[in-house]
Amino acid sequence: MRKAKLKIKYPLWEQLIAELRGRGHGKRESGALLLAKGQENEIVRFICYDDLDPHAFDTGIVRFDTSGFIPLWKICQAEGLQVVADVHTHPSGWTGQSSSDTYHPIIHQAGHMALIVPHFAMKNQKTLRGVGIYEYLGAYQWKTWTRYSGIFKIIRYAKRNQ
Ligand SMILES: [Zn+2]
Repeated sequence: MRKAKLKIKYPLWEQLIAELRGRGHGKRESGALLLAKGQENEIVRFICYDDLDPHAFDTGIVRFDTSGFIPLWKICQAEGLQVVADVHTHPSGWTGQSSSDTYHPIIHQAGHMALIVPHFAMKNQKTLRGVGIYEYLGAYQWKTWTRYSGIFKIIRYAKRNQ
């Protein structure tokens, strides 16, 4: 396994899934931005799109208005955080990227990661099972990673070599 590019402690992951589930309530997509401190690779906070742009989920698919970046950058600046990844849900078990996902990366920066959680996050999502994992390469090109690649890790216990 490669060294994880990003990691998240299980309690935060669980909280994230619960929020995505609660905000989409099985009827619409929901999503969030994942933030890490400075140059670190651990996700320490998430912010749901609708907390930044109240209409982000109105159409049923995630549409994040650019005005939402203003409060986002304020939070990042105040807390020394940066956006390292985003996550959104899809209605079914299909977690491939839609053309909108491909051509509208939330952050246009190579290395940014995007996760897609199946079934509106309504299923028991304790692991990355079924989750689409993508890395932005720039110029609307993405690399697809498997959950076994170890690029994105959910940390359950305090282990060595994380
Ligand atoms: Zn999508």
